[in-house]
Amino acid sequence: MFKSDYATLARPAILPDSSNRSGLPAFASVGDVLRAYEGDDAIFVLYPKKIAAAARTFLNGFPGKVMYAVKANPHPTVLKTLWTAGVRHFDVASTREVDLVKAIAPSAKLFFMHPVKSRAAIRHAYAEGVRDFSFDCIDELHKILEETGYPGDLNLHVRLALPKGDAVMPLSGKFGADRSEAVDLLTSARPHVAMLGMTFHVGSQCLNTDDYGRALAWAREIADDAGVKIDSIDCGGGFPVAYPGMSPRPMSNYFSAIKEALAVHGFEDIQVLGEPGRALCAQGGSTLARVELRKGTDLYLNDGSYGSLFDAAQCAWKFPVKLHRSAPREADNNTAFRFFGPTCDSLDVMEGPFELPGDVEEGDWIEICHLGAYGQALASRFNGFFSETTVAVMS
Ligand SMILES: *Cc1c(COP(=O)(O)O)cnc(C)c1O
Repeated sequence: MFKSDYATLARPAILPDSSNRSGLPAFASVGDVLRAYEGDDAIFVLYPKKIAAAARTFLNGFPGKVMYAVKANPHPTVLKTLWTAGVRHFDVASTREVDLVKAIAPSAKLFFMHPVKSRAAIRHAYAEGVRDFSFDCIDELHKILEETGYPGDLNLHVRLALPKGDAVMPLSGKFGADRSEAVDLLTSARPHVAMLGMTFHVGSQCLNTDDYGRALAWAREIADDAGVKIDSIDCGGGFPVAYPGMSPRPMSNYFSAIKEALAVHGFEDIQVLGEPGRALCAQGGSTLARVELRKGTDLYLNDGSYGSLFDAAQCAWKFPVKLHRSAPREADNNTAFRFFGPTCDSLDVMEGPFELPGDVEEGDWIEICHLGAYGQALASRFNGFFSETTVAVMS
């Protein structure tokens, strides 16, 4: 999509190899990306430095091992950047995620934390060296033990359902054992495992730091009821990002709330895990979408709900936006816009409202920010609209 011979361009220049370890075409700025681009699709931008910074925040502050939930953004550059920053644990949910992480970071420690797995996926993961699996019912426990041949070296994590908390997207509706089931599962699994753990997910984009403490208190009660040795506690994901209209407290508040609750509930001397997805990569990615048509305050873009803007459409999230004008113009006052995506489907609408300078016109590009998690990762090929162009911006 980019001119193959960058040397023929006076400006912009692709950055020299020394500053570009991402494996992607890398540019100094979004303006440089747009000036070089000759394609007709949206562009996904990764900011490796922001991803590395988010990783450092967790590695330095989270009171346990940091495990990246690969589903948030499985792009190889994201995985490489996290690995280089020091993330060694990865939460995978499918055979393809196992293979992807293995190919990029062969010595990464993988945890298969999807509570429902195919038998083939269990066999494959075990053969690839995965020893950590989660489950939330007795049939799944039997499946894991049968497919791995009762090896005695498994680390199994019982996924707990939680009483409802304050997450924007609850995740206990689909998975998780209730209190009495969890007690039975812990006692059934104990004789077969090397390590026995509990895991939960407070829900994605969790806005209340107390939810983690409540979940840990719940886990303590279950462990006491079961009366078996517990070796690991996994606090799951859910760590939030500041999208417009949502102002989570600083990540350090989450870390200290968790640290305190681990101590109060007697978990501080066992393995502690956390599975951030969104919080490691959301701010490290954005989408550049071009305005194909303007009708009043409606902008028709070349990316939408079937591309990277699923959450902007389905959940009406107001991602931060920036205008990149196709040609210099006088700045204008802000106006509230609605976005439409490129497909013919009437669900392909992002209500916003998105505040942009009032002079937006066809050919301008809009950068929709904080889309590094659950953005590009969700894009489909519906109606022939998709993008295969990802770039790194090194600022
Ligand atoms: C999706 C998921 C995560 C990551 O959640 P975030 O809200 O993005 O942090 C972690 N663990 C499990 C089991 C998940 O399904």
